Amino acid sequence: GDELRLKWDKAPCRFCGTGCGVMVGTRDGRIVATHGDMRAEVNRGLNCVKGYFLSKILYGSDRLTQPLMRMRDGRLDKDGEFRPVTWDQAFDAMAAHWKRVLREKGPEAVGMFGSGQWTMFEGYAATKLMRGGFRSNNLDPNARHCMASAAVTFIRTFGSDEPMGCYDDFEHADAFVLWGSNMAEMHPILWTRVTDRRLSARHVRIHTLSTYQHRTTELSDAGIIFKPGTDLVILNYIANHIIQSGAVNRDFVQRHVNIRMANTDIGYGLRPEHVLEQRAQHANDAQVSHPADFEAYARLMSEYTLDRAHEVSGVPKPQLEALARLYADPKTKVMSLWTMGMNQHVRGVWANHMVYNIHLLTGKISEPGNSPFSLTGQPSACGTAREVGCFAHRLPADMQVTNPEHRRTAEEIWKLPQGLLPSRVGYHAVLQDRMLKDGKLNAYWIMCNNNLQTAPNTNNETYPGYRNPANLIVVSDPYPTVTALAADIILPTAMWVEKEGAYGNAERRTQFWRQLVDAPGEARSDLWQLMEFSKRFTTDEVWPAEILDRAPEYRGKTLFDVLYRNGQVDSVPLSELGAEQKNQESRAFGFYVHKGLWNEYVRFGNDHGHDYADFDTYHEVRGLRWPVVRGQETKWRYREGLDPYVEAGSGVQFYGNPDKKANLIGAPYEPPAEVPDAEYDLWLVTGRVLEHWHSGSMTLRVPELYRAFPSALLYMHPEDAQQRGLRRGQEVRIVSRRGEIRSRVEIRGRNRVPRGVVYVPFFDASQLINKVTLDATDPISKQTDFKKCAVKVALA
Ligand code: SF4
Repeated sequence: GDELRLKWDKAPCRFCGTGCGVMVGTRDGRIVATHGDMRAEVNRGLNCVKGYFLSKILYGSDRLTQPLMRMRDGRLDKDGEFRPVTWDQAFDAMAAHWKRVLREKGPEAVGMFGSGQWTMFEGYAATKLMRGGFRSNNLDPNARHCMASAAVTFIRTFGSDEPMGCYDDFEHADAFVLWGSNMAEMHPILWTRVTDRRLSARHVRIHTLSTYQHRTTELSDAGIIFKPGTDLVILNYIANHIIQSGAVNRDFVQRHVNIRMANTDIGYGLRPEHVLEQRAQHANDAQVSHPADFEAYARLMSEYTLDRAHEVSGVPKPQLEALARLYADPKTKVMSLWTMGMNQHVRGVWANHMVYNIHLLTGKISEPGNSPFSLTGQPSACGTAREVGCFAHRLPADMQVTNPEHRRTAEEIWKLPQGLLPSRVGYHAVLQDRMLKDGKLNAYWIMCNNNLQTAPNTNNETYPGYRNPANLIVVSDPYPTVTALAADIILPTAMWVEKEGAYGNAERRTQFWRQLVDAPGEARSDLWQLMEFSKRFTTDEVWPAEILDRAPEYRGKTLFDVLYRNGQVDSVPLSELGAEQKNQESRAFGFYVHKGLWNEYVRFGNDHGHDYADFDTYHEVRGLRWPVVRGQETKWRYREGLDPYVEAGSGVQFYGNPDKKANLIGAPYEPPAEVPDAEYDLWLVTGRVLEHWHSGSMTLRVPELYRAFPSALLYMHPEDAQQRGLRRGQEVRIVSRRGEIRSRVEIRGRNRVPRGVVYVPFFDASQLINKVTLDATDPISKQTDFKKCAVKVALA
């Protein structure tokens, strides 16, 4: 390194929720080399193909370097052309619109769409600005499309979000069951740990369940293909098998589990109006389940016989039996893993419950190797979207906006007047689009998101809201994505190591990094943007008079003063900072913003099961898994001897719930919201590919990744193609009840779909498959079902 004058530092990968460590080599203000971090426990020196080319995402030729605003005759005009403007011009135009909307319609008419790609500091600053500044809970992350079902079910089951286990489970499990997870392509480094275990312990087996064949099903001992939506039947069959074969761990269930049943009168959120009625249900368990006894649960499960499971799912009986037996066998330690296949489901919450149910029935939980484990798709889905409180119903550290005590705690920590924070659950992602379209949400800021490409039913539900003349749409992004180009103002954004940051990965590991290079031109981090924007509002303009009458000391202050200023958040002045701490925000605002925000944020969770280490420690280590108590991270939660919060002599305590028991919530099978029929005769499944991350806005700008997979394809079974007179490579129309796109037929290769199913990845902006997808959501989590809708395919 020395002879090349490289300076090396660590950072977590900016793509998936695995959280691999990357070593970054810089010279003359530019990244010139990267490699996997040998000291990182997560990846032990490896990266996947996306991670190896990570630094190239910074250097795309069309990187945005100046704010752009649609203008005509020198003024902001929704029908004008994009023109370069200064930050002041952009922020002043935004602030004028936000003030008018707040004055005329109140806080419910402003909103923000955030991201699990925000750093924790950015998400935390956004939640403060939206809730404490503008008094609106209309803040939601794109994690709503990704793992809301998992997050909601953690709270409903254990009273605390995020997995009880960790990646160390990979080295302890005897069997891996992957539910709707193509781990070999979507979490490739975790897959290396699964295969390491499989190859070094002969008895280990991998079972992968999916609706189509892919690399993971091929590499598994059992690749199990089921009909879309029928995973619910398979899971209930396994529970029934456990009960019928006497494999219930009765002592565990009696001591640690409450039995409840799901309320079945809650229909799918197929229409957003319906979703609106149900938005209060996020946190209100009584509306979505009720107490029951074990007999009632066993009676419901008894309907799920082997015959029925086979008939409904199409899975051969021997495969189903083998799966049920490994869960039932008390000697086999099972790690269940799932991701979008299970979460993007109109019954995603029920599916998550059903996995926990079989682990709770057998007591196979919270110990090395016995682990129900929800994987995440974004680098800080856990740290940012969940932990710092970016969901429309949440505050930091699992607290809820509907809970008066939680709001009081937040007001106290944030040093805000009592009674300021709004109590109504805000609009979630799909509902935000509908409210924009209906003209009820009029000021909207999108960060770290390409929602016009990734939201469902985009032509009908997303695009119209962006172009509604009543609305001002602002997009902060490093590149001109389709979402940015549909907006009114585009703000150029710093990415990855162009800013200091923190991410929280899927195993509760919090990882920090420093700013290592400057962003190009005038690009600035989302944190800088949020803080700078907050300077343009005074409390008198945005808070009600009765609050200021009660707390006159806040009068006339800017939102920057009350939310972020040095002294409001305690921090270190610029003059006392070392060179590596002088990042873009500390230089701009005169103090160490990140440290101040962190020291404030940790007060939410410390001593409440959500403890973090101190700020400087994270800059030294390769991440720590919370709760971090007396300097020690926690690998397995809820188990005596492994988790410092569990009292001696109790064995297991699910202490997120007041009675320290987990909720086993029984639920039935329900068919999907839309199924193929005579006209729309195929199932459409959407997803990702190994080479591209999400909407491809970063990875398509890496020449090596672009060349490896330049455009999306329609994967189809050869007989389905033949039946329609289609040949490989031909252009076809993919049509649903909502819209259509064109693609090219692929009948070979890695996504080998069964008859009746087609698969299209969503990374390609020239083939917007989400014009076709269904905007049905899980009624409890409000997560969208991207995994199944009905389409027809014909020659273009
Ligand atoms: Fe990055 Fe995920 Fe690949 Fe690791 S597995 S290098 S975190 S994209």
